Amino acid sequence: MIKFLDLLSINQTYRKDLIIAFERVIDSGWYIMGKELATFEKDFAVYCQVKHAIGVANGLDALILIIRAYKELGIFKEGDEIIVPANTYIASILAISANNLVPVLVEPDIKTYNLDPSLIEQNVTERTVAILPVHLYGQLCNMDEILAIANKHNLKVIEDCAQSHGAKDTTGKVAGSFGNASGFSFYPGKNLGALGDAGAITTNDDELAETLKALLNYGSHEKYKNLFKGVNSRLDELQAAFLSVKLQRLDYDTEIKRKIVNRYLAEIKNPKIKLPEIAHQESHVWHLFVIRTENRQHLQNYLKDNDIQTVIHYPIPPHKQEAYKEFAHLSLPISEKIHEQVISLPLSSVLTNEEVDHIIDILNKY
Ligand SMILES: *Cc1c(COP(=O)(O)O)cnc(C)c1O
Repeated sequence: MIKFLDLLSINQTYRKDLIIAFERVIDSGWYIMGKELATFEKDFAVYCQVKHAIGVANGLDALILIIRAYKELGIFKEGDEIIVPANTYIASILAISANNLVPVLVEPDIKTYNLDPSLIEQNVTERTVAILPVHLYGQLCNMDEILAIANKHNLKVIEDCAQSHGAKDTTGKVAGSFGNASGFSFYPGKNLGALGDAGAITTNDDELAETLKALLNYGSHEKYKNLFKGVNSRLDELQAAFLSVKLQRLDYDTEIKRKIVNRYLAEIKNPKIKLPEIAHQESHVWHLFVIRTENRQHLQNYLKDNDIQTVIHYPIPPHKQEAYKEFAHLSLPISEKIHEQVISLPLSSVLTNEEVDHIIDILNKY
């Protein structure tokens, strides 16, 4: 069976350096908020072309804490609205409701699966305080248009970069550097994956960064003094050390995936299969290679019978989830169609040429 994502093999390619990092941490005697975190934060800030990168416990916390910090700074308040794509992974939406703000679900562009900028303004109300674009599957949103709308209506932009580490626009500007603040996930299967849970926030805003650093550490900016009723959402030394190892090779791994993707795009020729569309090479970092087809279950079974494992991202849209009964009445036909038709093919830096040949061949015979 060709695995959808062979994490074991991927992490084996880093094994030697991960063990060196592990030994460095265990022998340091210092496991929380130390040198490893400081080093990773500095390097990740450079990678993301921002002033501050702040490690947190996971990607959901990154988004929750950004919104929470804007509440503490008096910029957002409960009941305010945030515009978010209706077809995102549910965490983007949970971050808004966790803060008692209101997610306003907006349809994506069927071509890119990203928030459709032409539908944003009609959803802006007096209560709108932010836009939360998600660079879904690894493809950068149209940030020029989103930023222009945000400026016009004086809205914050919070990027969800959980799937898009290193995606760039035509000028070389990178995901996580466009908005006022951005949330990243280092969940093991993400483009940059830890060996456990981890996340980060990027921003150029000094005041926001100070507030976030306190919030993630019990609300304390100085030991035993608490400015806020904070949480514990720290990124520990061990994960930071592992992430520093993997960050060094992130762009290289993305290039390997790009080469595989270019073969998929050029060689899969089947009218039953809708391939992804990209603006340009650098704008997509291929967290996932997502195709669409009319009879998804049939295709998934066929691929499985031919030893190819696939995954659905995602089977149920957030507004049809039990957790969001209040949105069940919404009609979001584009999102619903996407959720019915998408299927993600195997894609990783450890796929072999023979495996790629087989996947292309089987899809062309479908
Ligand atoms: C993974 C993901 C998150 C949440 O990240 P975790 O580290 O799993 O908490 C948020 N948004 C999107 C789009 C994601 O894919």
